[in-house]
Amino acid sequence: MLDINPTSPGHVLAVLRAHGPLTRQELQERVGVSRVTMVERLDALRRVDLVRQVGFRRSSGGRRAELLAVNDVGRTALVADIGQSHATLAVADLAGSILARHDLRLSTRHSPNETLPMLVAEARALLATSERAEDLCAVGLSVPGQVDHDTGVTTAPPTMREWGSVRLRQPFADAFGVPVMLENDANALALADYYAMGRPEATLVGVKVGTGIGAGVVIAGRALRGETGSAGEIGHMRVEGSERRCTCGRRGCVAAEASGQALVRALREHGVRSVSDVVRRVAEGRPEAVEAVSAAGRLVGTVLATVVTIVNPRHVRLGGEVGVLPPFVAALRSTVEANAHANALRKLDIAASQLGDRGAFVGLSGLVADEMLSPATVDALCRRAT
Ligand SMILES: [Zn+2]
Repeated sequence: MLDINPTSPGHVLAVLRAHGPLTRQELQERVGVSRVTMVERLDALRRVDLVRQVGFRRSSGGRRAELLAVNDVGRTALVADIGQSHATLAVADLAGSILARHDLRLSTRHSPNETLPMLVAEARALLATSERAEDLCAVGLSVPGQVDHDTGVTTAPPTMREWGSVRLRQPFADAFGVPVMLENDANALALADYYAMGRPEATLVGVKVGTGIGAGVVIAGRALRGETGSAGEIGHMRVEGSERRCTCGRRGCVAAEASGQALVRALREHGVRSVSDVVRRVAEGRPEAVEAVSAAGRLVGTVLATVVTIVNPRHVRLGGEVGVLPPFVAALRSTVEANAHANALRKLDIAASQLGDRGAFVGLSGLVADEMLSPATVDALCRRAT
């Protein structure tokens, strides 16, 4: 049931999260309740350890008043960014600080049924080293594919075919006994930039170009998922004049021409064997690599111009190993500017993400925080504690 009591403990915490730190009186005025009610609400929140004192503010009368903030450092999230050939695990607090991190390579010879128990074991070990296992409140996972959020199953990972119909949520839920949240990797990255920008009240489109291509659209603080989890899947929009076979099984997708995987293939005769090789050649200024990456930027820019015209975002953030390369960003920007509707360009700002490889963690820990500190979750927690 949806709790719409606008003065419940969960709602008070939401106000504190958005505007804190605040004194009890300031909080009281913002929520619009009596002193007695606010004291009760804060007691309820203290019982579940969700508020903490972070200092004092001197009032006009000279009295010191306690400054209160959300206790987002006392709870822990386990976050994992699962890719095609690697996975990165981290233990983070709900403020997004990384407390421990572990990078591992995944063998493509292993099926998800072999890989998942291994990831669970690694996660357990990482939690133990971080000494925060007791505080674990949720798990957040990102995968380069589409996710059925109701069932916790991957539906159509375009670059990881063997990862289709994988029950991703269950092994982690069984192992840790806490809620498990799943997100598409491009959505997690788009959310990361949104959180890192201080949760602006503006629409943001995040585009990830790594091995594959994906995009996430963040509107009013939430990633647009669509009815079946495939919103933002720009890598599989068709481009005119291409008949190249894509990993999704169709022909002529943007990803078949402009993804990291496609660039590796296009540059193979120049000795390129991996996406990291592409990045290195561009850094060295090798003309064939710079031209291939620019062409990819133009192609992704063509489909992004359509997205920009439809969605009319304020910010576009580019991530992924290829997505942040300067020739890619420049080619994409000029293509969007030449092709999107003029009015949609007026306030548009396109830039490379500054988050680097922390992006997925920032996005996932923020997602976990939004869920675990939501008014409904907090009210349920307070009810159980009384
Ligand atoms: Zn495709």
